[in-house]
Amino acid sequence: MTFAAGPLDLGTVSRQKHRTMPRIASVLLPMPLPEAFDYAEPEGLDLRPGDHVTVPLGPRVIRGVVMAVRDGSGGNRPLKPVLERVDDPPLPPGVLTFVEWAARYSVDLPGWPLAMALRGLRHPPPKPDKVLVLTGSQPARMTPARLKVLAAAEGRKLSGAALASAAGVSAGVVKGLVDEGALAVDFVEPERGLPQPDLSLPPRDLNPGQAACVEVLAEMLHAGGFQAALLDGVTGSGKTEVYLEAVAAALAESPDSQVLVLLPEIALTQAVLARFEQRFGALPAEWHSGVSPPRRRQVWEAVASGDARIVVGARSALFLPFKGLRLVVVDEEHDSSFKQEEGFIYQARDLAVARAKIEGASVLLASATPSLESLFNAQAGRYRWLRLSARHGAAQLPDIDLVDMRQTPPEPGRWLSPPLIKAMAVTLQRGEQAMLFLNRRGYAPLVLCRACGEKMKSPDTDSWLVEHRYTGRLVCHLTGFSMKKPEACPHCGAKDSLVSIGPGVERVEEEARHIFPDARVAVFSSDTVMDAEAARTLVASMAAGEIDILVATQAAAKGHNFPNLTLVGVVDADLSLRGGDLRAGERTFQLLAQAAGRAGRHEKPGRALLQTYSPDHAVMQALKAQDRDAFIEAEMGMRQDAGLPPFGRLAAVIASGPDAAALESYVEALAAVIPNAEGVEVFGPADAPLSLVRGRRRKRFLVRADRTVDLQGFMAAWRARAKVPNSVRVVIDVDPYSFL
Ligand code: ADP
Repeated sequence: MTFAAGPLDLGTVSRQKHRTMPRIASVLLPMPLPEAFDYAEPEGLDLRPGDHVTVPLGPRVIRGVVMAVRDGSGGNRPLKPVLERVDDPPLPPGVLTFVEWAARYSVDLPGWPLAMALRGLRHPPPKPDKVLVLTGSQPARMTPARLKVLAAAEGRKLSGAALASAAGVSAGVVKGLVDEGALAVDFVEPERGLPQPDLSLPPRDLNPGQAACVEVLAEMLHAGGFQAALLDGVTGSGKTEVYLEAVAAALAESPDSQVLVLLPEIALTQAVLARFEQRFGALPAEWHSGVSPPRRRQVWEAVASGDARIVVGARSALFLPFKGLRLVVVDEEHDSSFKQEEGFIYQARDLAVARAKIEGASVLLASATPSLESLFNAQAGRYRWLRLSARHGAAQLPDIDLVDMRQTPPEPGRWLSPPLIKAMAVTLQRGEQAMLFLNRRGYAPLVLCRACGEKMKSPDTDSWLVEHRYTGRLVCHLTGFSMKKPEACPHCGAKDSLVSIGPGVERVEEEARHIFPDARVAVFSSDTVMDAEAARTLVASMAAGEIDILVATQAAAKGHNFPNLTLVGVVDADLSLRGGDLRAGERTFQLLAQAAGRAGRHEKPGRALLQTYSPDHAVMQALKAQDRDAFIEAEMGMRQDAGLPPFGRLAAVIASGPDAAALESYVEALAAVIPNAEGVEVFGPADAPLSLVRGRRRKRFLVRADRTVDLQGFMAAWRARAKVPNSVRVVIDVDPYSFL
């Protein structure tokens, strides 16, 4: 603060001080509020954007983040003061911009993406580790085992378990020494630093196709600024090797640069982490729901400090506080699990591009079956298009054959056709592995009563209950509701009349065991593989040849590399075609091409058999001919004619509520105030196909707009025109993937 020169008049100075410009901090709270609120900055706090603060909100004290600070008084409400600054690492400017951008993009409240950005801070820092140290006093009785423990503890601070294992003795020996006072408990701060990637380790020898891709990417990263590339290479072509080198190039650009690698499934992270560890001699930081809360906090802080240079994670890792982000890799970029459908709705692939743009970083989208959106951008020249059309080394793409289920049906009540069974027999005979792919959890998707025809449904939701035999329960996959399978029909009371209709993975497993009683059969689904550790174990035992037949949902269709897997059987290739939504054809093609792509990834040739009742369908024909380009061209043509994504844009409005009349009058009111806009069509309201969930009725609108339309602006303006009754919840889904 400078004052005008002149005779010092204390009275003036103090008045001047009072008149010094007060400042206003605009504070965003991680809560469902429409905007950031203004608070007065107490003198001397010197707040900056990104600082964490506590503020009063009504009677409560809430933690929030300063989005901006400005001179002035009188904000958007009567000003209360900020209470205090919280001493956590501030959010970097890129995160603040990203939070605002994401909220606008998703037509949602900015508090949601902020809450995601603060997730790592919700947990307390890791507690000190409990260790054992030598006290110098000797135990009354010395034994060889005790001697080993005392020797192992010399000069080290290990936990009891680690000490026992270092000495090769049982935990009881260590405990005995603690009880006798030869060892004492001490506490040490947990290791905060992360192992750093070793950039001096040599890369693998790349084949010429890979080397050409890496060269382009290295150039891109060196040039700096926002750039995007699509790495479009068949399964097993070595895309992962390519992006490992792109990561190396990004890190080599500057000691501050950071890289984020997004994966669609936790089950995949373990394999990818191992490849990073091989390449860089250190495990990257991991970020997903399976990471323990204290560890998440540690990773969050390490990302904020720049200590975490490589982060491998799920979509929510996009909200981490990177300050030197140089490259974002989105692996399996076509995967629909990048679309978050609940809470804050977003498409992580699109947000990854946005985050890269905000940070002036590069983004690399990788897939064997890229989304139409990304192909469209590559064709238009917005993304560099890097193609790898052959598998690495001797590996060949598998042959894909269709099994016409009308010609060679399975036995009644069975699901595996004679041609598939025969192919499995040959595969097992050769000592090779088979995978049966069926994207359906549980034993049977429907249970009905033979006596009265009643279908077992969720009590408050319009969906069938899926039978799970391992647990003996009927489960609603939508809401998680479950009940013990009843012995009598709840409707007519008939005993033993409930029959299981259709197959899930558990039933296919049962059939595989029946046909091949000597084979080792395992199931890979989210019911058998609950966490990263379980995934690692199952993947390792499959890779080690301890499993002969793996029955898997899509959790195992992607990414994994099983050297001895030579046969993939797709039990119901028509399954995802039945949804009939915008992406049904695209999704089926991607899923089946990925599943088939698991076979023959090494020296041994692979084969895929697709069981289908519609072998003439364009998707099946394109798969059989392995003619992706023809499929894409046909699909693009259809989308273009209809003005659908990527040629046009879609958004959905889903209104739901327990009170049918209130819901009806709200959607009618909304229909009456649709803004007039050129290039926009609104369909609905209509009952949602899933018309009842957890006791709430659901109605939908679908909006189609030309690419040039500000769809988000339209949606926000529209929603604001109709008052939402208390009992109704309105969700806007920009670029919907689910049409239920
Ligand atoms: P994608 O990610 O395209 O499915 P990967 O990168 O997993 O392909 O490569 C497929 C297999 O080929 C892996 O086992 C990988 O280790 C191997 N591979 C790929 N590129 C090379 C290379 N340049 N040198 C040696 N092995 C390679």
